[in-house]
Amino acid sequence: MKEAGQMQNLESAEAGRSVSTQTGSMTGEIPRLSKVNLFTLLSLWMELFPAVETQRPKSQEKEEGKHGLLGDNEEMAKVSADKKQVKRTGLVVVKNMKIVGLHCSSEDLHAGKIAMIKHGSRLKNCDLYFSRKPCSACLKMIVNAGVNRISYWPADPEISLLTGASSYEDAKLDAKAVERLKSNSRAHVCVLLQPLVCYMVQFVEETSYKCDFIQKISRTLPDTNIDFYSECKQERIKEYETIFLVSSEEMHKQILMTIGLENLCENPYFSNLRQNMKDLILLLATVASSVPNFKHYGFYCGSTEQINEIHNQSLPQEIARHCMIQARLLAYRTGDGKTGLCWFAHFSQKSCDGTGAMYFIGCGYNAFPVGSEYADFPHMDDKQKDREIRKFRYIVHAEQNALTFRCQEIKPEERSMIFVTKCPCDECVPLIKGAGIKQIYAGDVDVGKKKADISYMRFGELEGVSKFTNWSCSCLPTPRHSSARSEPHLRPKPQLVATPDP
Ligand SMILES: [Zn+2]
Ligand SMILES: [Zn+2]
Repeated sequence: MKEAGQMQNLESAEAGRSVSTQTGSMTGEIPRLSKVNLFTLLSLWMELFPAVETQRPKSQEKEEGKHGLLGDNEEMAKVSADKKQVKRTGLVVVKNMKIVGLHCSSEDLHAGKIAMIKHGSRLKNCDLYFSRKPCSACLKMIVNAGVNRISYWPADPEISLLTGASSYEDAKLDAKAVERLKSNSRAHVCVLLQPLVCYMVQFVEETSYKCDFIQKISRTLPDTNIDFYSECKQERIKEYETIFLVSSEEMHKQILMTIGLENLCENPYFSNLRQNMKDLILLLATVASSVPNFKHYGFYCGSTEQINEIHNQSLPQEIARHCMIQARLLAYRTGDGKTGLCWFAHFSQKSCDGTGAMYFIGCGYNAFPVGSEYADFPHMDDKQKDREIRKFRYIVHAEQNALTFRCQEIKPEERSMIFVTKCPCDECVPLIKGAGIKQIYAGDVDVGKKKADISYMRFGELEGVSKFTNWSCSCLPTPRHSSARSEPHLRPKPQLVATPDP
């Protein structure tokens, strides 16, 4: 809550540098992401959720065309123009500073409408983080539900202002309506971006390069490994800047004027804003390239008996990778950047959400018990000789936080899965099993290790839960399940662009 008070509101305040809330540690040694930046990054990341429905239409569209379902061409052209004009949007729903929903637009529904369907009046007093300024149709419902605050990424809005002249007028009208709804609403509609703390980008770069996924891959490459990683990162930066930044500064200013942010068009506010946005995009690209789409690398289960059971079937690799990157983003909220976790369940049927059959259950990262002050507990790691002043007995693990603050109950008939950046420790393994989680996607660096105050012996022996760790499928110990062979990791890059193909 302390953070909420100190949050920077770029719409009304100057972009001053308040770093205190972002380190959360007086030592200042390891930078942390602020909650606001974390939520913002997650909203951008949700916009990039692998599009489930773009895999469907090709054949079905042809069918529809053949039977003339849409009638005349004019009508058809209008529908496809509308689709192009509405940008896919990511959304993070936050209650009491805890994430209670992660959504993205589907083919039929905007992210804001999906949140209405999923949460209804429970949206009251929530904070919503959008990857684009929502349209008037979404905003009126959200405002009506009594949300507390709506934050959005200040680039092209949901109803794109970058489209052709014919739809530009409509987009402008919608932006006007949004402003009107905003000025009459109790909810605070604003841009919440905080400058990153010193060394944050550097720290994320270092830890991303050192992470086990990259290390495993680079071990198999002849001495060119550094190029492989930075090439991948450069590609991501370019891709995300195209999606999340308006490339021309003039055009960006035009958009800001239209969406009621004219006070950000003057310098230094404008250049600060652009820099801020670029830094966050860079951060996202860096974390995303730490779990790259590379050759045969992905998340596989070592045991064939396990995968053959229906409820153990693995996710498409691109979705597994997406959720793991989400967990890695969460990890930058901990003091060490190591452990983050995201917890999803899989419906037996596809839902209306842009995430297809997946829905969010909870997430967590390592932290001291809620409400504790910095000086309440020891902060030393195992380099400290005196065991009594080490932190390990006080830190609540990512798994434990996710379990405690989950926002949905776990249904035994559904496939619930966690994505955790590190191998779960012996304290957490029985919790995971006891909670009825069916699948663990995890890194496996510490498996079988016993460290001074924490051990990882039980993960290897854990039964009844399928474990998917990162492998190259070419070096799996046993023949793999046949359906896994056609996994999309062999396909060209997943389509990340917001709008589905016309
Ligand atoms: Zn909308
Ligand atoms: Zn643990």
